[in-house]
Amino acid sequence: MRGRLELEERHRGESPVDMSGAEFRRLGHLLVDRIGEFFDSLPERRIAPGDPPKSVRERVGFAGLPQRGASADALLEETAQLLFDHSLHNGHPRFLGYITSSAAPLGALADLLASALNANLGKWDLAPIACEIESQTVQWLAELIGYPTPCGGLMVSGGNMANLHGFMAARKAKIPWDVRTTGVCGKAQPSTVYASHETHTWIEKAADTSGLGTQAIRWIASDDQLRVDVDALARQIAQDRAAGYLPLLVVGTAGNVSTGAVDPLVELADLCEAENLWFHVDGAYGAPAAALPEASAELRALERADSVALDPHKWLYSPLEAGCTLVRDAATLEDAFSFQPAYYHFADAAAKDPGLNYYELGYQNSRRFRALKVWLGLRHLGREGYTRLIREDIALAERLYERIAAHAEFEALTQHLSITTFRYVPDGVSREVAGAEAYLNQLNRTLLDEVQRSGEFFVSNAILDGRYALRSCIVNFRTSAGDVDAMPEVIARKGRALDARLRPEELR
Ligand SMILES: *Cc1c(COP(=O)(O)O)cnc(C)c1O
Repeated sequence: MRGRLELEERHRGESPVDMSGAEFRRLGHLLVDRIGEFFDSLPERRIAPGDPPKSVRERVGFAGLPQRGASADALLEETAQLLFDHSLHNGHPRFLGYITSSAAPLGALADLLASALNANLGKWDLAPIACEIESQTVQWLAELIGYPTPCGGLMVSGGNMANLHGFMAARKAKIPWDVRTTGVCGKAQPSTVYASHETHTWIEKAADTSGLGTQAIRWIASDDQLRVDVDALARQIAQDRAAGYLPLLVVGTAGNVSTGAVDPLVELADLCEAENLWFHVDGAYGAPAAALPEASAELRALERADSVALDPHKWLYSPLEAGCTLVRDAATLEDAFSFQPAYYHFADAAAKDPGLNYYELGYQNSRRFRALKVWLGLRHLGREGYTRLIREDIALAERLYERIAAHAEFEALTQHLSITTFRYVPDGVSREVAGAEAYLNQLNRTLLDEVQRSGEFFVSNAILDGRYALRSCIVNFRTSAGDVDAMPEVIARKGRALDARLRPEELR
């Protein structure tokens, strides 16, 4: 009875979740105004809010699930304030940590548009125009980095997923039995995959998730530039074949996380060709730099990969989340992921062009319109715009390296792509004295905490041959030459104060 009564009171346009166009415009304008102010205020804000974890939790509060609803006006106003005042601002001009970029404001609008439309790109006929835009985005990304088109591919959430999709395509393509039915243990021959120690941790998740297990990873040594040692790799493959293993794929990284070094992709491509192995390139960070005419031959050799992982939410400035897997042979993704259940209707292929069913190319079933912000970004800036931004970021990183090298209290360590690593070495600490290295590591680790907490700059760290280094990665269109020039002295000042407190007697 109750149900019937409620249904009779339910009229179109009166649902509590719905909003009229006028109401949406009013609220939307208020929020967009706040966001516009936020963008303008970014340079004046602290990068890190500096709140201790306990106080962050208190900001959110400990109330239980609200029993009754509240007005959208108040909620949006309060939430925008909460987020703007208590977040770590990776869009700040002096945020140079990890590989987290500033996000294009147009991307935020694109996400709004995508959410308003709410297209489901799992299946072509649910979102025909959106799927075609995703398909064009994938081809454009390939074109941008010089990967041969037409190619296959799809948008995913980020670099980890982009790499995982490439890995799974390789697993299906290179295991000679029906691995999707019988699993990796279908035959007793264990598979192996090859990656350097510098490979991002996605490889462990992929080895685990794919059923190969992390033991399947053959960790190959790197040279002093942190590039994989191809001779050691070739020896390991030969040894594994002799021992009865089934080598599947080799990972080359186009811009590693620590230093931005690019693996010798030309030699890796040659080796994979000779050994009939799948060649996967992790270009989550560095692939967009292949768009530069002056890019190295090594980097441009990503064009020879069977699959490439890209991360538009890094150097292409898309808001999170946007990753992309490219595969040379489009059929390999479908082979790796497609199932056709009875509850999905498939148009008679002869009757019309069925288009792409993205759910058959990857893990996701329902999929949001991630491609839109990437597509609009590519149209907004064009190849020229992106080339210029990437080139500037690299030039800024080189400038930082020079400034650091010229500063008496720093040791400049590495510079590749837009990553610069260095460490603070105070006056009077002789590297020859026992304990000096341990002290420098401790000092730089503490210094990093201090810098991050200060809210003035945000850098991260790298461990280079046992040395604890500070690491600046410029994937930030807001960073200027002035920011870069200011950094050494800001950090040195904190370093001096720490050194005065921390240096042990024997090193004085
Ligand atoms: C960032 C990064 C990843 C992981 O990407 P997410 O977008 O964080 O999932 C993988 N590999 C490399 C080289 C990266 O720089």
